[in-house]
Amino acid sequence: MNMLRPARMGCVASMAGTSILLFALAGWAPGAHSQASAGAAQTFGPENPFYASSTLPFHAPAFDKIKDSDYQPAIDAGMAGQLKEVEAIANSSAPPTFDNTIVALEKSGRLLDRAMEAFNCVTGANTDDALEKVQEYEAPRLAATNDAITLNPKLFARIKAVYDERASLGLDPESLRLLEWDYREFVHAGANLSPADREKLKKLNEEDSTLENAFQTKLLAAAKAGAYSTDNGGALAGLSQEQLAAAEQAAQGRKQKGWVVPLQNTTQQPILTDLTDRATRQAIFENSWNRAERGNGNDTRATIARLAQLRAEKAALLGFPNYAGWVLTDQMAKTPQAAIDFVNALTPAATAKAATEAKDIQALIDKQESGKQNGGFQLEPWDWEFYSEQVRKAKYDLDESEIKPYFELNNVLENGVFYAANQLYGITFKERHDLPVWQPDVRVFEVFDADGKPLALIYFDYFKRDNKNGGAWMDNLVQESKLLGTLPVVYNVANFEKPAPGQPALLTFDDVTTMFHEFGHALNGMFADTEYPSLSGTQTARDFVEFPSQFNEHWASFPAVFAHYAHHYKTGAPMPADLVAKIKKSRTFNQGYMLTEILAAAKLDLDWHTLAADAPLEDPDTFEKQALDKSHLWIEYVPPRYRSSYFLHIWANGYAAGYYAYLWTEMLDDAAYQWFQDHGGMTRANGGRFRKMVLSRGNTEDLEQMYDAWLGGKPSIEPMLKNRGLVEQTAP
Ligand SMILES: [Zn+2]
Repeated sequence: MNMLRPARMGCVASMAGTSILLFALAGWAPGAHSQASAGAAQTFGPENPFYASSTLPFHAPAFDKIKDSDYQPAIDAGMAGQLKEVEAIANSSAPPTFDNTIVALEKSGRLLDRAMEAFNCVTGANTDDALEKVQEYEAPRLAATNDAITLNPKLFARIKAVYDERASLGLDPESLRLLEWDYREFVHAGANLSPADREKLKKLNEEDSTLENAFQTKLLAAAKAGAYSTDNGGALAGLSQEQLAAAEQAAQGRKQKGWVVPLQNTTQQPILTDLTDRATRQAIFENSWNRAERGNGNDTRATIARLAQLRAEKAALLGFPNYAGWVLTDQMAKTPQAAIDFVNALTPAATAKAATEAKDIQALIDKQESGKQNGGFQLEPWDWEFYSEQVRKAKYDLDESEIKPYFELNNVLENGVFYAANQLYGITFKERHDLPVWQPDVRVFEVFDADGKPLALIYFDYFKRDNKNGGAWMDNLVQESKLLGTLPVVYNVANFEKPAPGQPALLTFDDVTTMFHEFGHALNGMFADTEYPSLSGTQTARDFVEFPSQFNEHWASFPAVFAHYAHHYKTGAPMPADLVAKIKKSRTFNQGYMLTEILAAAKLDLDWHTLAADAPLEDPDTFEKQALDKSHLWIEYVPPRYRSSYFLHIWANGYAAGYYAYLWTEMLDDAAYQWFQDHGGMTRANGGRFRKMVLSRGNTEDLEQMYDAWLGGKPSIEPMLKNRGLVEQTAP
């Protein structure tokens, strides 16, 4: 998920939790228990398309043969099969070795993988009632299977025995990495605890899961109750007819008269951009800010205070000083201090720029209000969106209808996305019409390496559908692995407007950026050149996985690439220079504010999750104010993007101690692009080096060492500040 650029909201590439594969099931809430069976029990045999490995090229799933009813029996049989395989490893009478334990685990669960990879694809991109039922039915079973593996004491004893001997085993670096990774993930899950402590951990996990659910329920109700309603149409002056109609419809949906403006997740509410009545803006902002702090049944403050405390207790039980310390051990940043230092380093430039932006806005307010009855007033957070929009219109305005004819989808794909990859890495693409797809709009390409050898398959599913999740993402249908003899099969999904038949699909520049972004994940998956499937491709860490994708975005505006694809779909004329300049400039608008609000949220996350286990229960309001104050991020007119009491990412969405990762990967990608610029730009030599040292390596090395070795040093924040327009550009 990337909240910096709305077009890429919800972007996910699969990430490794553990090499035992099931943690890849992000979003599968183990708490969602359901007894409902998704249909009569079915036998599983050779008639099921998942029974054996696909015979299609690249082992691509046979979507023309797979029926909805094939998934559940395949997943059930896959879980049972994997448990049996794991039992056999755990109960083996042979002394534990790397091969009979660690490699054997890598080879286990093939059927489950085959079924889940296809299942994740269709449930995300092309779901229906039957698939949703299977999803609900299998979620708790998959979680239980996962627990049965990671908490199998005999299995862990064998892993530990191999791990303890690791120095004398003569393992190659990738094998050693796999061993260390497996061991750490089991320890992380509590495998090393005494039975009594494991019981304690189980209780804390249960309480955590109960409180996370409670938080989510309360927040949902709080957000709903926080909607602004009025029966005075004048209060909504400034809204368009469409916006008013939507507000009227929202009121009708609640059986209310007048108009209702529902709250968005973030502190700032986009609708404030248009509302001319200052009192209405203030009311909506305050509804947002106080949504979960009203002292009623929806107040989340006690819940989050206890959540922070119990996570600290959990970390202490596992031997860590705090929760962030536990979470960050397998991330690139490694320690909470590294993440905190990073946030602190960005703060001065971000807040200074926000102060300049505030000055511009204050000047605009003073100019517009002078002589009026109420006179000039002090800029408040509920004014920011409204006046900054006027600054944007005056200084940065982009007319999408002027731009879109230059970004026709197929042209962007073949002459932009593919072209850049060809220039950098020498790879070529050939469309295949003989491979089955999950939906008729999906296109498949075979990818060839520079030497003409087949490299991968890639599917593109670009158009919005009612049965598709929002946002854009990449994932694998087949994971590359030399051990298993598999080449990668990957896919990109997005939600672009589908044109009428015969009409071209014209994109915004945000859409174009999304295509490059998701294709960056795809390159990471397609260049995978690793032995073990669980270290392959995009299965890295949260603060690394968005680096290859964000890095690839840079080529969308690289002059030689841009000039190659940005042609008018009718005339073929290149985009006029003044329009190009406008696009470039528009991307630096409001960046001081935007970076500051994210830094404030990241700081809150890190402070909550670096509490010690014996710290007293904190009052969230006091805690929040102090946390931001001491890091110079308590700025009246730039509130945090999420307040503690409605910070869903960190309390219930798996981003605890991880919100900084959005900015961290931005530092990595901007520094990487700077490296290319400093070393001759878009050349095959640069691309080849990047592919060899980073894109092909997956999670086979320590990520920090891998990155630093490629860059030739530590990444600096300067390119990121420059890219956001927060420091003056120096002439080349
Ligand atoms: Zn992404």
